Amino acid sequence: MNIQKSEALFAEAQQIMPGGVNSPVRAFRGVGGIPRFIKYGYGPYLVDVDDNHYIDYVLSWGPLIAGHAHPYIVETIALQAQRGTSYGAPCEWESHLAQQITRVMPSIEMVRFVSSGTEATMSAVRLARAYTGRTKIVKFSGCYHGHADEFLAQAGSGVATLGLPDSPGVTPGALADTLVANYNDIQSVATLFQQFGDQIAAIIVEPVAGNMGFVLPHNGFLQGLRDITTKYGSILIFDEVMTGFRVAYGGAQSVYNIKPDLTCLGKVIGGGLPAAAYGGSAKIMQHVAPVGSMYQAGTLSGNPLAMVAGLATFYLIEKPGVYEQMEMLAAQLAAGMREIGAELGIPVQATSLGSMWGMFFCENTVTDYTSAKLADTQRYAQFFHGMLEQGVYLAPSQFETAFVSTEHTLKTNTQTLEAARTVLRQISL
Ligand code: PLP
Repeated sequence: MNIQKSEALFAEAQQIMPGGVNSPVRAFRGVGGIPRFIKYGYGPYLVDVDDNHYIDYVLSWGPLIAGHAHPYIVETIALQAQRGTSYGAPCEWESHLAQQITRVMPSIEMVRFVSSGTEATMSAVRLARAYTGRTKIVKFSGCYHGHADEFLAQAGSGVATLGLPDSPGVTPGALADTLVANYNDIQSVATLFQQFGDQIAAIIVEPVAGNMGFVLPHNGFLQGLRDITTKYGSILIFDEVMTGFRVAYGGAQSVYNIKPDLTCLGKVIGGGLPAAAYGGSAKIMQHVAPVGSMYQAGTLSGNPLAMVAGLATFYLIEKPGVYEQMEMLAAQLAAGMREIGAELGIPVQATSLGSMWGMFFCENTVTDYTSAKLADTQRYAQFFHGMLEQGVYLAPSQFETAFVSTEHTLKTNTQTLEAARTVLRQISL
């Protein structure tokens, strides 16, 4: 595969940006090699500057549920851009998108838009602290909630990929109120609550974990979190930045039938432009300024460009059959990977939910960060590069999730599974 232009651009980029990238995992450090510089995307495909085409399962790390450059979304953005990209004053699209979200997720009565998932989670935690008057939060090892200081304790995603224990620059003070429990281990949560229950403002959790690889919650785990937070008067925050409108139209909360107090959203709601949100009951949300005293603001928050891109995306995904199709494709990919692994004697764990799927190279089911770390990252790196050569773009790290879009098809599935068979056969030799 010719990647000369990517090589040259990467060399240049590394001179002027740390690692040549603006978000760490893009640099391919988890798998080695040269990141592909992208010229354009269309539907389920990415095309790099050397004109190599790839079926894309990263989809900008989740937002592009309608694929790349969907004509309806592009047209909507273009029309709005002619009228202005940001007003710094209210516009009606904010209310339309907020109404859309509250319709789909009934646990949310009021919404505040922000520009990134990081902003959404850090604001939701601030709100939980303001509302309860308590300071501590509980997070889970391997869960990633953006890069705010208080979350960089045993975080997943790029932090897992790079093997950084935590990040230098985060003060002990910033983490003093962060308690870390084990995913899918309700006893580890109960133990923390027994000791600190009356100081815990909130539990924040990825209801389906997507940042230590793709890990499903055990039966009863999320209900256990709901029960314990209710018992102790703490806030349950579902970080659905990744799972929202992905594992199902109504997010993980609809799949597992749990009503969190606050929900964080991002990715899909901006239709590929920077938009995110946090929301919950009016009773809690009314503590946010200017109605309440919990301060939080943003220059580009709720800008009309991102709002209309989000609305256009919802218009596309709420059509009948869309989720069934994505769910079928993701399930077929996970099943196909398991079958190929079994055929070739390579241990593969693969699962899916809605339009998300993931695979680990390991013997046993992955249930938490400890078991995720047992996966064979070297084999993943070989697999990843083999798949790239075959024209399939997976996440450049074992500890990430794969996505499908409305534009993926049975044909892209067949091509992907054929590629996987070829690559895994080479690896098994
Ligand atoms: N929360 C979750 C579950 C995420 O997956 C991410 C990003 O991948 C974030 C928060 C942070 O979002 P952003 O990268 O938009 O700041």
